[in-house]
Amino acid sequence: MVRRGRELIQLPGPTNIPERVLRAMHRPIVDFGSPEFTSMARGCVEDLKQVFQTKGEVFAYSANGHGAWELAFDNLIAPGEHVLMPETGRFSQSWADMAQGLGCRVTTTAPYHERPVDPDAIEHLLRADKGHDLKAVMMVHVETSTGITHDVGAVRQAIDRAGHPALLLVDAIASLGAVDLPMDRLGIDLVVTASQKGLMLPPGMAFAAVGERAMRASANGGAARRYWDWRLRQGDETYFWFYGTPPVQMLFGLREALDMILEEGLDNVFARHHRLAEATRRAVACWGREGTIDFQCKVPEARSDAVTAIHFPSGADPDALRKRCREQLSVAFGAGIGPFAGRLLRIGHLGDLNEPMLLGALGALEVAMRLEGVPHNPGGVAAAAAYLAEALVA
Ligand SMILES: *Cc1c(COP(=O)(O)O)cnc(C)c1O
Repeated sequence: MVRRGRELIQLPGPTNIPERVLRAMHRPIVDFGSPEFTSMARGCVEDLKQVFQTKGEVFAYSANGHGAWELAFDNLIAPGEHVLMPETGRFSQSWADMAQGLGCRVTTTAPYHERPVDPDAIEHLLRADKGHDLKAVMMVHVETSTGITHDVGAVRQAIDRAGHPALLLVDAIASLGAVDLPMDRLGIDLVVTASQKGLMLPPGMAFAAVGERAMRASANGGAARRYWDWRLRQGDETYFWFYGTPPVQMLFGLREALDMILEEGLDNVFARHHRLAEATRRAVACWGREGTIDFQCKVPEARSDAVTAIHFPSGADPDALRKRCREQLSVAFGAGIGPFAGRLLRIGHLGDLNEPMLLGALGALEVAMRLEGVPHNPGGVAAAAAYLAEALVA
């Protein structure tokens, strides 16, 4: 089939890479030892602190999100040590699998697959840990598999109420640069992320923002490590702070992406994500008026501004719908993954995205529902348009 126009990527990562970022990366290699490159790369790390909303240290790695997960363990949690990981879906499960693979002990909770983590349950578990055996609470902020934003601030307060010294380590892989997470104000000890979601870059870099308490904990703790050791990633030369050759072109892309985020302003970035997410939710609510389509997240305030996960109580097949969208309508949506395989369709709305892109994607989904005979109340796109008109006037 001949294809014209652009294919829309409506995945919850990787996300669209802006033309500006692509152009910034399209250049010959440079001498990474030069003062110009070193200062450009140093500037990226400094500016990332604004995006992480921290005065702590930021470290960059050549890795994906799984690398970011592992560095959290290696720097802070030794084999045999014990962590608490609230069960939120596919991503908390995989992080917990990693913990076990690294020889750590993991306590999980009842599943929070339809509603946000209950801070009282966390407080209860921590109070029961009288000997302070638990070294950390490790949680996913936006759980991409369910479309739920978990309340990290409420978990922080639960840890404090319990008077427990556990560190709070957060996966913001699907939320940094999309959903507000003020690290220092919330008292988070470590935030990890990857390049290919809110930061609008290709996959291939991971970042860690480390607070004072976590820096201290890593000085005497953690596992045997080299590549992931953030203590070895300091010094004046990029060769040392990447523990080898830096990902040169990625750093030029990062510079441009950070310029874009800071030009727009972090608050405006969050407001745009909220607006596009809310437009998506209005469309879904309209389609589902007769109960044939529903949100995975049953608590409206916890529906994520980065990704919306929907299911089909009518029995419609989300994978057939996605296939139709991808093959005939040039839009890629996310599948159900892990425990939700075959059951969900996920609409990613984070990163470099605007109103016409989103309306196009929602329109294509409505076309596909007609083609696939998926029961729905028509008018979702009109509902999204009506909301956007209100939101943009305000
Ligand atoms: C995408 C994602 C990951 C995994 O990132 P990779 O780069 O695929 O390793 C982990 N956690 C969350 C919440 C994610 O959305």
